[in-house]
Amino acid sequence: MTPNLFDVQNTVVLISGGSRGIGFAMAEAFAQQGAKVIITGREEQSLIAACKEAPASDHPMTFQICDVADTNAINTCVAAVIKEHGRIDTLINCAGINKRMPVTDYTPDDYDQILNINLRGAFFMAQAVGKQMIKQGSGNQINIDSLSTYGSLAQVAPYGMSKSGLSSMTRGMALEWGTHGVRVNGIAPGFILTDLTRKLWSDPNMLAWNRTITPMQRMGDVDDLVGTAIFLASPAASYLTGQVIRVDGGSSAGINWPIAGDFQVTTDD
Ligand code: NDP
Repeated sequence: MTPNLFDVQNTVVLISGGSRGIGFAMAEAFAQQGAKVIITGREEQSLIAACKEAPASDHPMTFQICDVADTNAINTCVAAVIKEHGRIDTLINCAGINKRMPVTDYTPDDYDQILNINLRGAFFMAQAVGKQMIKQGSGNQINIDSLSTYGSLAQVAPYGMSKSGLSSMTRGMALEWGTHGVRVNGIAPGFILTDLTRKLWSDPNMLAWNRTITPMQRMGDVDDLVGTAIFLASPAASYLTGQVIRVDGGSSAGINWPIAGDFQVTTDD
């Protein structure tokens, strides 16, 4: 029997895109559980501020500046974490951006920026950390997908492509690394209020639509995702790999149509 199924205490957790939003909520939660958390992002000032804001813990949160679109920066960052801690137990691939516009408006630069961060960056971060985890013979990785991993939304085509690619990456890496004791999974959040989405959900029509399609009848909060991340990183998930767990208030459960009592059929005729 494992003494504590959800124990992540003293594990080394590297979070790309950990300076705010979903990544920072996960960083706080792991730190509260006694993990050694290293967050990354592109801007030093926001990383410093995030580490200051982090909850008091046996292991103060630290950071590495790392643009995941730059593979040299990824390798430098991962090497620095290994030098400091000697191992990496959990990688959360969270760094991501979005640009919303009709398909006909995207420039090659827009397209490259989205794919280079959300998919290429996640791949090379996973690869660099995966090499270390293979050496250790243990570790787990969590990729942050999206609702658009499974169902496309208008005006975010390259974002959806990057997130579909991420779920394929999750399965491919899980297949190759299972034999080394390394698990790879994903979390597909629903609509979560963060800097990335704040403007979108300040529109009353968009917000009303969101409530209609979400059985839980509310926006997701960053804290709604952290329990699943801790579960995936913990001994409780020791036989779970190659899966993406949807944490979306039920919005992917089906189509919530506006049927009412008038349409009930209680007899055969
Ligand atoms: P935020 O914009 O709030 O945070 C994004 C984080 O990623 C920041 O820490 C940012 O730091 C970092 N980041 C962005 N680009 C890079 C880069 N090139 N290299 C390293 N770090 C980078 O977004 P969210 O918290 O909302 O989103 C986090 C992840 O969750 C994304 O992958 C997103 O696609 C996904 N997601 C979000 C949903 C939502 O509704 N909010 C729903 C589904 C998925 P900095 O800018 O300083 O580099």
